[in-house]
Amino acid sequence: PHETPPLTRHTPQQESQVSSIFSRDYASELPTAVRGEGVYLYDADGKAYLDGMGSAGVVGIGHGRTEIYQALAAAGDKVPFAYSAQFTTPWQEEFGKSILSVAPKGIESVYFVSGGSEANETALKLARQYHLERGDTQRQKIISRWQSYHGVTIATLSLSGRTSWRAPYTPYMLPVIHIAPPYEYRCAYCKDKGGCTLDCADELERAINLEGPETVSAFFAETIVGTTASGLVPRPDYYKRIREICDRYGILFVADEVLAGYGRTGRPFAIQDWDVVPDMITCGKAIGSGYAPLGAVLINDKITNFFRESRKRFVHGFTYSGHPTSCFIGQQVFNIMSKEGLFTRAAEIGKHLHARLNALQQRHACIGEVRGRGLYGGVEFVADRATRAPFPAEMNFTSRLVSGMKERGVIIGGGVPGANFGQGGDHIQITPPFIVSEAEIDILVDALDDTIGAIA
Ligand code: PLP
Repeated sequence: PHETPPLTRHTPQQESQVSSIFSRDYASELPTAVRGEGVYLYDADGKAYLDGMGSAGVVGIGHGRTEIYQALAAAGDKVPFAYSAQFTTPWQEEFGKSILSVAPKGIESVYFVSGGSEANETALKLARQYHLERGDTQRQKIISRWQSYHGVTIATLSLSGRTSWRAPYTPYMLPVIHIAPPYEYRCAYCKDKGGCTLDCADELERAINLEGPETVSAFFAETIVGTTASGLVPRPDYYKRIREICDRYGILFVADEVLAGYGRTGRPFAIQDWDVVPDMITCGKAIGSGYAPLGAVLINDKITNFFRESRKRFVHGFTYSGHPTSCFIGQQVFNIMSKEGLFTRAAEIGKHLHARLNALQQRHACIGEVRGRGLYGGVEFVADRATRAPFPAEMNFTSRLVSGMKERGVIIGGGVPGANFGQGGDHIQITPPFIVSEAEIDILVDALDDTIGAIA
């Protein structure tokens, strides 16, 4: 399980997805988005699209919040760009305090970057330097999970377990070992055992011992698996077990909440449902809500105090680390989230989404599983519910579903079984803005009902 699948296992269909940016004529295929308001985007022809994917899980507070631009216009002349190696700014300090105020207890400091991949790159390097400064010079390996996504740079791609995106870039620059994800619906460990055995969590310990604990730096996991398998929510005791194993061997636990965090699950951070404090939480997407490119690494007291007390400098820094305008906008997004209760609203409104999706499962035999939490709705499709066999790749189920939805004016995200070398079925991601209403969820699920019916 630790070997990277060779490129030869990449089918022509998967190849074409990987190279689609070159082969697809974007100008003729993609509508031009010219306006956004609430949960809707409008194209140049005036067609409205319900943004059921929240534009890749980014837009939390909704489109077209003009108060953000008004605040920037009012304060803009006071927000200079200042290089973060030479200055801090009130905007970075203020937003830093704000985001830490909703983070789990034990998280002490923050490092701002421009997006999710940068956040994970930063966490990787901070973990390495932390061990190095403490004399643990061999701790260079990382453990992560298959069917995960941590970013698109070479380092974060090595970390990811999204095989179709990884395969063209082997060999990687980082020694990364992948273990099984908590994918109960298709788990090789527990499928004959009448339910979850947590063997997938224990695989972490086996991998650590096989590699040598003194060589492992960190374990990275998406708290709730997003794009690559749509909403895998581990059992309530999964992360406690992960935390214990990491602590036993002095390995840092990094929770990637670029997609699942900042209100998506009905808590400020998804990991708060497991009552576990990671060593770092990586963030992106909703913290800027699409109004500015923004990412962050939230860092616990152990690492923060080590760097503070030893007076070591983190050898890192993008030109745009702590970008003042991005942080200023991050603060405006935070203000709206706080004022409108959007850090927790997904818990309530998400009940409606999940009730509607569960009812849809009763109507369509091709829905194998409905999963996710709050305003993360994941649906996996199967050709046969009893055997859980996926649809054949030639059927192009997900792309037909996603484009059928788009024709009906609703945007959702989708993943195909081939993206993971057959590990899993077609699946879709529903991640609307946190302001979505029940009526808008109904429009989305009705369109899904109609589109599935048309394909089936
Ligand atoms: N981590 C997760 C869980 C993600 O979903 C993503 C993006 O989809 C990333 C990291 C990468 O973030 P970005 O695209 O902002 O670099």
